[in-house]
Amino acid sequence: MTDIHAELDRRAADVADQVVAWRRHLHRNPELSNREARTAELIADHLRSLGLDEVRTGIAGHGVVGVLHGGAPDEGRVVALRADIDALPVPDRCGADFASTVVDEDYPGGPFPVSHACGHDCHTAMLLGAATVLAGARDRLPGTVLFVFQPAEEGPPVDESGGARQMLAEGALDPVPTMAFGMHVTPYPKGCVGYRVGNQYGASCLVRITVHGKQVHGSTPWLGVDPMPAVGAVLTGIGQLYRQIDAFAPVTVSIGHVEDVGRFNIIGETVTLWGTIRCAVEADMTDARKRLATLAEHSARAYGCTATTDFLQDVPAVHNSEEWVTAGLPTFRRVVGDDKVVRSAATLGYDDVSEFVNRFGGLYVMFGVQDAELTADGAPVPTPGGRGLVPNHNPRFYADDATLVTGVRLHAQVAYDHLSGALRP
Ligand SMILES: [Zn+2]
Ligand SMILES: [Zn+2]
Repeated sequence: MTDIHAELDRRAADVADQVVAWRRHLHRNPELSNREARTAELIADHLRSLGLDEVRTGIAGHGVVGVLHGGAPDEGRVVALRADIDALPVPDRCGADFASTVVDEDYPGGPFPVSHACGHDCHTAMLLGAATVLAGARDRLPGTVLFVFQPAEEGPPVDESGGARQMLAEGALDPVPTMAFGMHVTPYPKGCVGYRVGNQYGASCLVRITVHGKQVHGSTPWLGVDPMPAVGAVLTGIGQLYRQIDAFAPVTVSIGHVEDVGRFNIIGETVTLWGTIRCAVEADMTDARKRLATLAEHSARAYGCTATTDFLQDVPAVHNSEEWVTAGLPTFRRVVGDDKVVRSAATLGYDDVSEFVNRFGGLYVMFGVQDAELTADGAPVPTPGGRGLVPNHNPRFYADDATLVTGVRLHAQVAYDHLSGALRP
């Protein structure tokens, strides 16, 4: 470890308590996608207090970007460190005394209980910590750091725009990064970095299928057209889609929400299905969509109905190239130790950080924060006597506070190593 790495670590240790305090505050005060007003205010206030060269606010809704130009001679490199800042419409059963009791009364489709069940409170707090560390060492930074606090990662309400793509559309990432870096807290052993060459997360899109029938009293179904049996056919038909797509490249189609406008004795006019398609291989998305739309349209027709299918909020797969992973491994190993840098399995989760990493190059890794250990073949299992493995989006999802300082170190050292030219493909 060089002198500058030691300095970054020392500064990270100094800010560690503050990072935990931020995390707990954010956890208690979660805000849903595109409603992250107070979260953004906290971020912007702190970035301004650091004396950054620029603090841009109001990007893609409540996005914030801090710009820090280093004081050392540079070769034009720019690293974008990214944290997503939004919470989920999920109740908080994490068991901590800083658990959320927030309910968003006005959110479309709500009211919803709100919690940081995906751990974006951790991401935000860690990046605020990294901004503090790097601003403190700015005279020694040979390049520019963008601190990218991104709203609406979980997807904005369907009739609103938002998220990473919207930030790009608004020109938020300027100067153009030569590397983007992000991480996601996950049920891995505390302080572990999981990396994957290839797609870490799958491609995703939101699906809305509306089946139209003809409203009628429940006692006279022959006088109307009941959309419900058509919906049943669509739901069971989805189970056959998998057999039409290469079984060695996983695809899932899940309908998580069915919205009917009928009543026990009224056959409704329409039924709307809300779901998601995930593809491990991005190229399968077009095919999966086409097959789903065909299934919906023709199943509906079989019952005298019509169906319209919309694909919204498409997010590309998160791809880590071999060159970038090879370049990043020495930094990861120095920060967390050789034994804590492990290959992670691909998942069909999504993260629109892909808009940044795929466009500018860079890395996206998994970061362990739970009471877990790894089996000989690298699978996480619960530590005996611990709090167990709880996946993201589960109401009981938890993250160990004491681990967050390691994430701060990771951000800071990845940034420095890229700017100094040590970490690049
Ligand atoms: Zn999530
Ligand atoms: Zn997330």
